[in-house]
Amino acid sequence: MSQVQPGCLWVVATPIGNRDDLSARAVETLRGVAVIAAEDTRHSRPLLLHHNIATPLLALHEHNEREAVDAIVRRLLGGESVALISDAGTPLVSDPGFRLVRAARAAGIRCIPVPGACAAIAALSVAGLPSDRFVFEGFLPPKAAARQARLRELAGEARTLIFYESSHRVAESLADMRDAFGAPREAVLARELTKLFETVLGEPLGELAARVAADPDQQRGECVILVAGRGEEADARLAEGQRVFAILREELPPAKAAKLAAAISGAPRKALYQG
Ligand code: SAM
Repeated sequence: MSQVQPGCLWVVATPIGNRDDLSARAVETLRGVAVIAAEDTRHSRPLLLHHNIATPLLALHEHNEREAVDAIVRRLLGGESVALISDAGTPLVSDPGFRLVRAARAAGIRCIPVPGACAAIAALSVAGLPSDRFVFEGFLPPKAAARQARLRELAGEARTLIFYESSHRVAESLADMRDAFGAPREAVLARELTKLFETVLGEPLGELAARVAADPDQQRGECVILVAGRGEEADARLAEGQRVFAILREELPPAKAAKLAAAISGAPRKALYQG
């Protein structure tokens, strides 16, 4: 019989595209547990069939998480082993599972990770941006005003930033990032990782935003956006932008002065003037 011990919650990462990115240990665990809690049972069934996993499934998604958690914790306390999976990648990473893991740990149940794919880490591993320190920001707010406010808060962050974004908002978000962080800031768009149309584009934000806006093919599929943290060069650009803005403001309305100062210095316009 497998290594699977009773009464434990196994948190199992599944592929983010390529079905073969399921580890041997994940397969053994998913075959050996009493039940698999899945975000969407219909979505996960083809993957499980592909790997000859016939374990029963139960649904655990954001709409039933509260009730499902109680039932699962009772089963775990009764000695059953349970695996948690999400539609893709690592559960709890912009996916359901937080309440279950928290409740299980509070009940004294052992939670065991079976690590594997995660889109953020896969993207970071090929982006060529500093990877010693990074910040995972998950999804930005969908509404423009809230998204722009969040990005302004992040403009001074020195660590590499990682965002998840849906394909129909990727062009808008890149344009907002260009405005908040400045056109010269280095960025990477990692799309459809491990799938047929995998693409990793690395360019300054100004060029990346323009390229994606002009090419509907770059607005398809699943994507991760990575942005380099603010470096010393950015600090120098901002200082130069502020200097130029102060001069131009003597003669021009502030919005116009900020636009010109941003174009001359490469500093983000919104960091010079909020208007
Ligand atoms: N739990 C998942 C993980 O570990 O990466 C993330 C789930 S979240 C609901 C889905 C988002 O992850 C997508 O909108 C996209 O931003 C990113 N993503 C998932 N699969 C991807 C892929 N193959 N290529 C690029 N991004 C992907």
